[in-house]
Amino acid sequence: MRVLFVASECYPLIKTGGLADVVGALPQALGRLGAEVRVLLPNYPEVAGALGGTRVVGRFRERGGDVTLLAGEASGLDVIALDAPHLFDRPGSPYHMPDGQDWPDNHVRFATLSGIAARIGCEGVAGWRPDVVHAHDWQAGLAPFYIRLATVPCARTVFTIHNMAYQGVVPTTELDTLGIPSRFYTADGMEYWGALSLLKSGIVYSDRVTTVSPTYAQELRTGEFGMGLEGAVSARAKDFAGILNGIDDTVWNPRTDRLIPATYSPRDLSGKAADKAALQAAFGLDVDPSRPVFTVISRLAYQKGLDILLAVLPELIERGGQLVLLGSGDPDLQRAYMDAAAGHPGRVGVRIGYDESLSHLAQAGADAIIIPSRFEPCGLTQLYGLRYGTLPIVARTGGLADTVIDANDAALARNIGTGFVFYPVNADRLRFAVERAIALWYGAPEVWRRLQVNAMAQPVGWHASAERYLDLYRSLPGEGAGAPAQPEAPAEKSAAPKKPARPRAATAAPKAKPATAARKSRKSPTSGKNGG
Ligand code: ADP
Repeated sequence: MRVLFVASECYPLIKTGGLADVVGALPQALGRLGAEVRVLLPNYPEVAGALGGTRVVGRFRERGGDVTLLAGEASGLDVIALDAPHLFDRPGSPYHMPDGQDWPDNHVRFATLSGIAARIGCEGVAGWRPDVVHAHDWQAGLAPFYIRLATVPCARTVFTIHNMAYQGVVPTTELDTLGIPSRFYTADGMEYWGALSLLKSGIVYSDRVTTVSPTYAQELRTGEFGMGLEGAVSARAKDFAGILNGIDDTVWNPRTDRLIPATYSPRDLSGKAADKAALQAAFGLDVDPSRPVFTVISRLAYQKGLDILLAVLPELIERGGQLVLLGSGDPDLQRAYMDAAAGHPGRVGVRIGYDESLSHLAQAGADAIIIPSRFEPCGLTQLYGLRYGTLPIVARTGGLADTVIDANDAALARNIGTGFVFYPVNADRLRFAVERAIALWYGAPEVWRRLQVNAMAQPVGWHASAERYLDLYRSLPGEGAGAPAQPEAPAEKSAAPKKPARPRAATAAPKAKPATAARKSRKSPTSGKNGG
């Protein structure tokens, strides 16, 4: 089984969030099951710097400039880097300019990535043709569509939604630029509230659609979570599945983690105590083993519910807790948490920014991790928390609901609890969950210890989910010998975008927004993480 992953991020080469962790780890788990996976990524400066010894495996002339495919290896991953300096050799994040604004040509940049993925899916590269093109999130959402346009046998396609809130919405004036014939601009095609959605393209035109947890798969069919695409998802119901993300055991493992001062295991948690002291010191907190340390490691976005936690902070502190927050994003939230740190010296420590190694220290050193998300497709930080014996306190939504077992009386009686789950997502319920945790911490340390052991024993690795993906790939018709031409494929010559350069307009919000969480998020569905 040969699989081409197409994505805009891949840990450890380039990461802004959980997408990178998945794209970095799942190919290796599939590899252990016998699949041959290559990852197609933009050759951002970070990727170019990390990929050693590349060789040229393809060159194409695109309207905006020449592009080269470079094959290389990094951290056990076979990578094909799309070297297109005019699109990807830029400072800033993968999606944003240094001033935080989206790159105005994001749709062209990622349509080019998708077009090249389609080309590889149909023609192969250096003698290697995938059986499946597995496209991730809106940045790769046009890959299945371009493959549909092909008239030759091509790879089958799988599309994974990592977050419905980022939809790659593009004005219809860009149809031609992206090589999308206007007949696909329909309600059951790519049309999205008067604009185009590249995420919707992935949902509509791929052979199979997945998302990253079973509960999120259910939620996406509802108006509350579907963000205007619940109809598109429901229309694919028989081809749609939720497969839980896992974690990379070689990166996130308290027994072997080289980014923490002391390693530890469920049998001997003494290293965790040392990590806690180091964490408290690093964040300017009172170094006191008796106080429960709560951590947050997160983008500061409305989705993550950290405004709700602010309302609960006074009780958390009053009852003896400490808070360590590592994150960045919304300027108002950044300021509010910095003010909280200034107002509670020794009790609240805040680091605004992105710091991979500090995130390991926070997972290892904290006693509990708080994730009050309004929606959470899967969530990885609660999985890291489980693995590190750092009890998750989570909202009952998406993958959080699928991975944490609330330590209620029944679960305690059967000794199966792994954390604290609250619902609905509001300050009262979060406050109650934090109070329950603190009561256990001080009142029943032996129960806390049992919960830690349960948490650390959870099977949060990739093995089971990688098997599910492999089953999914195998279930696709035409696998192996080249997919048959798809009967519904319209006659078009090229699988690549026809005019991948010179965008005329910046990414725009849709004219009308659906009455869903997208509107509640106070943001356009294209803004924030992963750009537009
Ligand atoms: P999302 O992808 O929505 O941001 P996830 O929980 O799926 O949320 O994944 C977030 C990933 O990003 C995790 O690996 C987490 O450790 C990491 N992360 C988030 N914020 C920071 C930060 N400020 N510093 C370091 N790592 C971070």
